[in-house]
Amino acid sequence: MEKIKLGISTCLLGENVRYDGGHKLDRFLTGTLGQFVEYVPVCPEVECGLTISREAMRLEGDPESQRLVTIRTKSDMTERMIRWAQKRITELANEDLCGFIFKSDSPSSGMERIKVYNEKGKPVKKGVGIFARIFMEHFPLLPVEDEGRLHDPKLRDNFIERIFTLKRWRKVLERKVSRRNLVDFHTRHKLLILAHSPRYYQMMGKLVAKGKDLPLKELYQKYQTLLMESLYLKTSPKKNANVLQHMMGYFKEQLPSDEKQESLDVIDFHRNGLIPLIVPITLFNHYVRKYDQPYLKQQTYLNPHPLELQLRNHV
Ligand code: SF4
Repeated sequence: MEKIKLGISTCLLGENVRYDGGHKLDRFLTGTLGQFVEYVPVCPEVECGLTISREAMRLEGDPESQRLVTIRTKSDMTERMIRWAQKRITELANEDLCGFIFKSDSPSSGMERIKVYNEKGKPVKKGVGIFARIFMEHFPLLPVEDEGRLHDPKLRDNFIERIFTLKRWRKVLERKVSRRNLVDFHTRHKLLILAHSPRYYQMMGKLVAKGKDLPLKELYQKYQTLLMESLYLKTSPKKNANVLQHMMGYFKEQLPSDEKQESLDVIDFHRNGLIPLIVPITLFNHYVRKYDQPYLKQQTYLNPHPLELQLRNHV
Protein backbone atom coordinates (compact mmCIF):
# COMPACT_ATOMS: atom_id res chain seq x y z
CA MET A 1 0.00 0.00 0.00
CA GLU A 2 1.15 3.51 -0.81
CA LYS A 3 2.30 5.52 2.22
CA ILE A 4 -0.38 7.50 4.04
CA LYS A 5 0.20 11.24 4.15
CA LEU A 6 -0.18 12.75 7.62
CA GLY A 7 0.46 16.24 8.89
CA ILE A 8 2.52 16.35 12.08
CA SER A 9 3.89 18.93 14.50
CA THR A 10 7.53 19.19 13.43
CA CYS A 11 9.05 18.83 16.92
CA LEU A 12 7.57 15.29 17.20
CA LEU A 13 9.90 14.23 14.39
CA GLY A 14 12.93 15.21 16.47
CA GLU A 15 13.57 18.53 14.74
CA ASN A 16 15.03 21.19 17.03
CA VAL A 17 12.29 23.77 16.52
CA ARG A 18 10.98 24.32 20.05
CA TYR A 19 11.21 27.68 21.78
CA ASP A 20 14.21 26.40 23.79
CA GLY A 21 15.94 24.88 20.75
CA GLY A 22 14.90 21.35 21.71
CA HIS A 23 12.56 18.74 20.22
CA LYS A 24 9.95 16.22 21.35
CA LEU A 25 10.89 13.17 19.30
CA ASP A 26 8.25 10.44 19.51
CA ARG A 27 9.73 7.07 18.61
CA PHE A 28 6.43 5.31 17.95
CA LEU A 29 5.49 7.96 15.42
CA THR A 30 8.85 8.08 13.67
CA GLY A 31 9.66 4.36 13.98
CA THR A 32 6.68 2.01 14.06
CA LEU A 33 4.02 4.19 12.42
CA GLY A 34 6.64 5.97 10.31
CA GLN A 35 7.10 2.85 8.15
CA PHE A 36 3.61 3.33 6.73
CA VAL A 37 3.35 7.09 6.73
CA GLU A 38 4.77 10.05 4.86
CA TYR A 39 4.80 13.00 7.22
CA VAL A 40 4.18 16.61 6.26
CA PRO A 41 5.79 18.58 9.09
CA VAL A 42 4.25 21.82 10.30
CA CYS A 43 5.75 24.05 13.00
CA PRO A 44 3.42 27.04 13.33
CA GLU A 45 5.76 29.12 15.48
CA VAL A 46 8.82 28.77 13.26
CA GLU A 47 6.86 28.90 9.99
CA CYS A 48 5.12 32.12 11.00
CA GLY A 49 8.56 33.70 11.26
CA LEU A 50 9.63 33.33 14.89
CA THR A 51 13.18 32.34 15.69
CA ILE A 52 14.71 29.33 17.43
CA SER A 53 15.21 30.07 20.33
CA ARG A 54 12.31 32.38 21.17
CA GLU A 55 10.33 33.51 24.12
CA ALA A 56 7.85 30.93 25.43
CA MET A 57 4.18 31.65 24.76
CA ARG A 58 0.84 30.79 26.29
CA LEU A 59 -2.85 31.32 25.70
CA GLU A 60 -4.47 34.12 27.66
CA GLY A 61 -7.92 35.62 28.06
CA ASP A 62 -11.31 34.02 27.55
CA PRO A 63 -11.13 30.45 26.13
CA GLU A 64 -13.70 31.52 23.50
CA SER A 65 -11.49 34.38 22.29
CA GLN A 66 -8.06 33.24 23.44
CA ARG A 67 -4.92 35.22 22.61
CA LEU A 68 -1.43 33.86 21.96
CA VAL A 69 0.93 35.93 24.08
CA THR A 70 4.63 35.70 24.99
CA ILE A 71 4.99 35.05 28.71
CA ARG A 72 7.67 37.58 29.68
CA THR A 73 7.28 40.57 27.35
CA LYS A 74 3.55 40.09 26.68
CA SER A 75 3.80 40.42 22.87
CA ASP A 76 0.52 39.38 21.30
CA MET A 77 1.20 36.91 18.44
CA THR A 78 -2.42 36.03 17.73
CA GLU A 79 -2.97 37.95 14.48
CA ARG A 80 0.40 36.96 13.08
CA MET A 81 -0.32 33.29 13.78
CA ILE A 82 -3.86 33.44 12.34
CA ARG A 83 -2.67 35.15 9.13
CA TRP A 84 0.04 32.54 8.60
CA ALA A 85 -2.27 29.62 9.50
CA GLN A 86 -4.93 30.65 6.99
CA LYS A 87 -2.33 30.71 4.23
CA ARG A 88 -0.75 27.41 5.30
CA ILE A 89 -4.16 25.71 5.39
CA THR A 90 -4.66 26.40 1.68
CA GLU A 91 -1.31 24.71 0.96
CA LEU A 92 -2.18 21.74 3.17
CA ALA A 93 -5.49 21.35 1.33
CA ASN A 94 -3.44 20.24 -1.71
CA GLU A 95 -1.44 17.66 0.25
CA ASP A 96 -4.10 14.94 0.32
CA LEU A 97 -3.60 14.49 4.07
CA CYS A 98 -5.37 11.59 5.76
CA GLY A 99 -4.93 13.07 9.24
CA PHE A 100 -2.81 15.18 11.57
CA ILE A 101 -0.85 14.41 14.73
CA PHE A 102 -0.51 17.47 16.96
CA LYS A 103 1.90 18.19 19.80
CA SER A 104 -0.07 18.11 23.05
CA ASP A 105 -0.12 21.06 25.48
CA SER A 106 1.13 23.59 22.93
CA PRO A 107 -0.60 27.00 22.66
CA SER A 108 -0.02 26.85 18.88
CA SER A 109 -0.32 23.14 18.05
CA GLY A 110 -2.34 21.51 20.86
CA MET A 111 -5.74 20.12 19.85
CA GLU A 112 -7.55 20.18 23.21
CA ARG A 113 -7.38 21.03 26.92
CA ILE A 114 -4.69 23.66 26.48
CA LYS A 115 -4.20 25.98 29.44
CA VAL A 116 -5.71 29.44 29.01
CA TYR A 117 -4.65 31.95 31.68
CA ASN A 118 -7.07 34.60 32.97
CA GLU A 119 -6.02 38.10 34.05
CA LYS A 120 -5.17 36.81 37.53
CA GLY A 121 -2.75 34.30 35.99
CA LYS A 122 -4.97 31.31 36.78
CA PRO A 123 -5.21 28.62 34.05
CA VAL A 124 -8.25 26.69 32.87
CA LYS A 125 -7.68 23.71 30.55
CA LYS A 126 -10.22 24.77 27.93
CA GLY A 127 -8.09 26.15 25.10
CA VAL A 128 -7.13 24.91 21.66
CA GLY A 129 -3.83 25.81 19.98
CA ILE A 130 -4.33 28.64 17.48
CA PHE A 131 -3.14 26.65 14.46
CA ALA A 132 -4.81 23.41 15.58
CA ARG A 133 -8.18 25.18 15.91
CA ILE A 134 -7.98 26.67 12.41
CA PHE A 135 -6.88 23.32 10.98
CA MET A 136 -9.71 21.36 12.62
CA GLU A 137 -12.32 23.94 11.60
CA HIS A 138 -11.11 23.74 8.01
CA PHE A 139 -10.91 19.91 7.86
CA PRO A 140 -13.69 18.78 10.22
CA LEU A 141 -13.72 15.17 9.02
CA LEU A 142 -9.97 14.52 9.01
CA PRO A 143 -8.76 12.24 11.81
CA VAL A 144 -6.67 14.21 14.32
CA GLU A 145 -4.89 13.19 17.50
CA ASP A 146 -2.04 14.33 19.68
CA GLU A 147 0.98 12.25 20.61
CA GLY A 148 -0.06 12.11 24.27
CA ARG A 149 -3.48 10.64 23.50
CA LEU A 150 -1.88 8.16 21.10
CA HIS A 151 -0.23 6.48 24.10
CA ASP A 152 -3.71 5.23 25.01
CA PRO A 153 -4.07 1.89 23.13
CA LYS A 154 -7.78 2.39 22.40
CA LEU A 155 -7.30 5.88 20.98
CA ARG A 156 -4.28 4.68 19.01
CA ASP A 157 -6.26 1.80 17.47
CA ASN A 158 -9.09 4.14 16.59
CA PHE A 159 -6.88 6.80 14.98
CA ILE A 160 -4.87 4.32 12.95
CA GLU A 161 -7.97 2.50 11.79
CA ARG A 162 -9.41 5.82 10.61
CA ILE A 163 -6.33 6.90 8.66
CA PHE A 164 -6.00 3.54 6.93
CA THR A 165 -9.70 3.54 6.03
CA LEU A 166 -9.54 7.09 4.75
CA LYS A 167 -6.57 6.15 2.58
CA ARG A 168 -8.56 3.26 1.08
CA TRP A 169 -11.50 5.63 0.52
CA ARG A 170 -9.22 8.13 -1.24
CA LYS A 171 -8.19 5.30 -3.58
CA VAL A 172 -11.88 4.87 -4.46
CA LEU A 173 -12.09 8.62 -5.16
CA GLU A 174 -9.20 8.30 -7.61
CA ARG A 175 -11.22 5.80 -9.65
CA LYS A 176 -14.23 6.48 -11.80
CA VAL A 177 -17.15 7.78 -9.71
CA SER A 178 -19.72 4.99 -9.89
CA ARG A 179 -22.34 3.34 -7.72
CA ARG A 180 -20.61 0.04 -8.28
CA ASN A 181 -17.31 1.28 -6.82
CA LEU A 182 -19.13 2.72 -3.82
CA VAL A 183 -21.06 -0.50 -3.20
CA ASP A 184 -17.82 -2.47 -3.48
CA PHE A 185 -16.07 -0.26 -0.89
CA HIS A 186 -19.08 -0.39 1.43
CA THR A 187 -19.37 -4.16 1.17
CA ARG A 188 -15.74 -4.60 2.21
CA HIS A 189 -16.12 -2.22 5.17
CA LYS A 190 -19.50 -3.36 6.51
CA LEU A 191 -18.21 -5.27 9.51
CA LEU A 192 -15.66 -2.60 10.38
CA ILE A 193 -18.46 -0.02 10.48
CA LEU A 194 -20.67 -2.37 12.49
CA ALA A 195 -17.91 -2.71 15.10
CA HIS A 196 -18.01 1.05 15.61
CA SER A 197 -21.71 1.71 15.41
CA PRO A 198 -24.71 -0.49 14.59
CA ARG A 199 -26.69 2.74 14.06
CA TYR A 200 -24.30 4.05 11.39
CA TYR A 201 -24.14 0.55 9.87
CA GLN A 202 -27.91 0.76 9.32
CA MET A 203 -27.84 4.36 8.07
CA MET A 204 -25.02 3.70 5.62
CA GLY A 205 -26.65 0.51 4.38
CA LYS A 206 -29.82 2.48 3.62
CA LEU A 207 -27.87 5.27 1.96
CA VAL A 208 -26.06 2.86 -0.35
CA ALA A 209 -29.26 0.93 -1.14
CA LYS A 210 -31.22 4.10 -1.89
CA GLY A 211 -28.29 5.68 -3.69
CA LYS A 212 -30.03 5.34 -7.04
CA ASP A 213 -32.18 8.36 -6.20
CA LEU A 214 -29.22 10.66 -5.49
CA PRO A 215 -26.76 12.34 -7.85
CA LEU A 216 -23.45 10.47 -7.57
CA LYS A 217 -21.49 13.44 -6.22
CA GLU A 218 -23.96 13.96 -3.41
CA LEU A 219 -24.05 10.24 -2.66
CA TYR A 220 -20.25 10.07 -2.37
CA GLN A 221 -20.16 13.16 -0.14
CA LYS A 222 -22.86 11.86 2.19
CA TYR A 223 -21.19 8.48 2.36
CA GLN A 224 -17.79 9.98 3.17
CA THR A 225 -19.27 12.05 6.01
CA LEU A 226 -21.04 9.06 7.54
CA LEU A 227 -17.94 6.90 7.13
CA MET A 228 -15.69 9.27 9.05
CA GLU A 229 -18.33 9.96 11.69
CA SER A 230 -18.94 6.25 12.25
CA LEU A 231 -15.28 5.35 12.67
CA TYR A 232 -14.80 8.21 15.12
CA LEU A 233 -17.11 6.32 17.51
CA LYS A 234 -15.21 3.90 19.70
CA THR A 235 -15.49 0.13 19.38
CA SER A 236 -15.95 -1.92 22.57
CA PRO A 237 -15.63 -5.59 23.52
CA LYS A 238 -19.43 -5.83 23.42
CA LYS A 239 -19.65 -4.35 19.90
CA ASN A 240 -16.79 -6.56 18.68
CA ALA A 241 -18.42 -9.64 20.21
CA ASN A 242 -21.56 -8.74 18.28
CA VAL A 243 -19.59 -8.56 15.00
CA LEU A 244 -17.80 -11.84 15.68
CA GLN A 245 -21.10 -13.56 16.39
CA HIS A 246 -22.50 -12.11 13.19
CA MET A 247 -19.48 -13.59 11.37
CA MET A 248 -20.14 -17.01 12.85
CA GLY A 249 -23.42 -17.04 10.95
CA TYR A 250 -21.38 -17.38 7.73
CA PHE A 251 -19.78 -20.59 9.01
CA LYS A 252 -23.03 -22.21 10.18
CA GLU A 253 -22.77 -25.13 7.82
CA GLN A 254 -19.02 -25.56 7.84
CA LEU A 255 -17.70 -25.31 11.40
CA PRO A 256 -17.65 -28.65 13.21
CA SER A 257 -19.03 -28.50 16.76
CA ASP A 258 -15.63 -28.31 18.51
CA GLU A 259 -14.57 -25.33 16.37
CA LYS A 260 -17.97 -23.72 16.92
CA GLN A 261 -17.50 -24.08 20.67
CA GLU A 262 -13.95 -22.74 20.49
CA SER A 263 -15.22 -19.68 18.59
CA LEU A 264 -18.02 -19.06 21.07
CA ASP A 265 -15.54 -19.34 23.95
CA VAL A 266 -13.07 -16.80 22.53
CA ILE A 267 -15.92 -14.41 21.74
CA ASP A 268 -17.10 -14.66 25.34
CA PHE A 269 -13.58 -14.27 26.73
CA HIS A 270 -13.18 -11.11 24.67
CA ARG A 271 -16.60 -9.75 25.64
CA ASN A 272 -15.66 -10.21 29.31
CA GLY A 273 -12.33 -8.43 28.94
CA LEU A 274 -10.16 -11.53 29.40
CA ILE A 275 -8.41 -11.59 26.02
CA PRO A 276 -7.54 -8.90 23.44
CA LEU A 277 -9.39 -8.63 20.15
CA ILE A 278 -6.39 -9.94 18.23
CA VAL A 279 -7.09 -13.46 19.61
CA PRO A 280 -10.59 -14.01 18.11
CA ILE A 281 -9.50 -12.11 14.98
CA THR A 282 -6.57 -14.51 14.47
CA LEU A 283 -8.85 -17.50 14.99
CA PHE A 284 -11.47 -16.17 12.58
CA ASN A 285 -8.82 -15.36 9.98
CA HIS A 286 -7.72 -18.98 10.27
CA TYR A 287 -11.28 -20.26 9.68
CA VAL A 288 -11.83 -17.84 6.80
CA ARG A 289 -8.75 -19.27 5.08
CA LYS A 290 -9.51 -22.87 6.02
CA TYR A 291 -13.13 -22.79 4.82
CA ASP A 292 -12.51 -20.27 2.07
CA GLN A 293 -15.41 -18.01 3.09
CA PRO A 294 -15.63 -15.49 0.21
CA TYR A 295 -17.66 -12.71 1.88
CA LEU A 296 -15.56 -12.65 5.05
CA LYS A 297 -12.33 -12.91 3.09
CA GLN A 298 -12.87 -9.42 1.71
CA GLN A 299 -13.81 -7.82 5.06
CA THR A 300 -11.30 -5.17 6.15
CA TYR A 301 -12.48 -5.80 9.73
CA LEU A 302 -10.22 -8.86 9.73
CA ASN A 303 -7.18 -6.93 8.46
CA PRO A 304 -7.72 -3.17 8.83
CA HIS A 305 -4.01 -2.31 9.21
CA PRO A 306 -0.60 -4.03 9.09
CA LEU A 307 0.22 -6.51 11.86
CA GLU A 308 3.51 -4.72 12.53
CA LEU A 309 1.57 -1.94 14.24
CA GLN A 310 0.59 -4.46 16.91
CA LEU A 311 -2.85 -3.02 17.43
CA ARG A 312 -5.89 -4.78 18.97
CA ASN A 313 -3.47 -6.19 21.54
CA HIS A 314 -4.99 -4.70 24.67
CA VAL A 315 -7.91 -5.75 26.87
S1 SF4 B 1 4.59 22.39 19.48
FE1 SF4 B 1 4.11 23.17 17.47
S2 SF4 B 1 4.85 25.26 17.47
FE2 SF4 B 1 5.80 24.24 19.20
S3 SF4 B 1 7.75 23.50 18.40
FE3 SF4 B 1 6.29 21.85 18.17
S4 SF4 B 1 5.54 22.10 16.10
FE4 SF4 B 1 6.50 24.03 16.65
